[in-house]
Amino acid sequence: MTGPRSKALFEEATRLLPGGVNSPVRAFRAVGGEPPVIDRASGSRLFDVDGKVYIDYVGAWGSMIMGHAHPVVVKAIQEAAEGGVSYGASTPWETDLARMVVEAVPSMEMVRFVNSGTEATMSAIRLARGATGRDRIVKFEGCYHGHADSLLVKAGSGAMTFGVPDSLGVPAALARQTIALPFNDRDAVRASFREVGREIACVIVEPVAGNMGVVPPKPGFLEALREITATHGSLLIFDEVITGFRVGPGGAQALYGVRPDLTCLGKIVGGGLPVGVYGGPKEIMEQVAPLGGVYQAGTLSGNPLAMRAGIETLHLIEEPGFYERLEERSKRLEEGLGELAARSGIALTCQRVGSMLTPFFTKHGVIDYRTARSADTGLYARFFRAMLDGGVYLAPSQFEADFLSDAHSVADVEATLLAAQDAFARVRVR
Ligand code: PMP
Repeated sequence: MTGPRSKALFEEATRLLPGGVNSPVRAFRAVGGEPPVIDRASGSRLFDVDGKVYIDYVGAWGSMIMGHAHPVVVKAIQEAAEGGVSYGASTPWETDLARMVVEAVPSMEMVRFVNSGTEATMSAIRLARGATGRDRIVKFEGCYHGHADSLLVKAGSGAMTFGVPDSLGVPAALARQTIALPFNDRDAVRASFREVGREIACVIVEPVAGNMGVVPPKPGFLEALREITATHGSLLIFDEVITGFRVGPGGAQALYGVRPDLTCLGKIVGGGLPVGVYGGPKEIMEQVAPLGGVYQAGTLSGNPLAMRAGIETLHLIEEPGFYERLEERSKRLEEGLGELAARSGIALTCQRVGSMLTPFFTKHGVIDYRTARSADTGLYARFFRAMLDGGVYLAPSQFEADFLSDAHSVADVEATLLAAQDAFARVRVR
């Protein structure tokens, strides 16, 4: 149950913020109940204003791969703040972080820092349109790329959670430029390109979808996107805002061996501070202002706090064995949830790539938006609430990913499974 201070603070918030929140899924509308108001966080734990402790699998929506308030990252942010939080001028740190990104993700020869994932994808789309002289774009149903107008068509994440995958306020003329196709369906992509390939500036994709819950690419899907876009002179954009530095240091493109033209990053690359990045080959990136005619700018872009938090985070994940450790714990969680659900007679399909996973309440594998929608969201909501009562904070929607961090210990995972055993029993007897 939500504590009295959380209740009071959230009620006050609803008078001042739409739905009481600054981002829709935080309002818990998809799972019911009132969200606890968070006071602080440390390692794998969130502490709410009533003193209740949760093992956190949201991790600022995948940003906190080192866990919360990692001392090295905190120290870097403190030092940076003492030197002034933003100058609107060049600093050594933006070049340092750019070098680290470019070394980790070789398809990104040159990068531009922005302040959110939304800005990164929006700017990459503009660049693709500018570079090709074409207007139309292809995206996939249930993929979410932030809330820029062109991309709020058949969108995932909160848009999917609330059943409004097409936002009001997006000009129809602009929405018509976006072609939304089923994820994992290469034939649909081929058919679209056969019809209007010469008008398509780019295909943008989450190489592992995370915003309809975790949906891995079918073997050959990403390769087909690469081949089709290259044949038609369109750009391939990987939105690795979630998968970048999450599924491995080189992101999904290294994991699956497919090289996009442009890549978007966010979340981890800012160590939990507001950051986005887009980048690609020099000859494309040189079309961005001040070198080229594609305009994009930002008052706080490349600010020292975010850059230094990002630098320290990327240093920490370079440690040998880092991803292997994450993999082990994530695998244990996936397998444990599957076994416990089976024992309780609950149809559950746990889908996972590295340390991102989603327990779908369905017995069928989820491969796209349509199959994701067949999951039992009512059952997910009850499971979510039972877990929250048991001190585990999962993603507050069936159509989001859960994330592990380096701070999630083996004991945390076992405690989570114990809570899940209880939660499965509770949702089954209802
Ligand atoms: N792309 C992907 C794949 C995302 O998951 C998100 C946000 N969850 C975004 C873009 C947008 O990022 P932001 O919320 O920082 O604008």
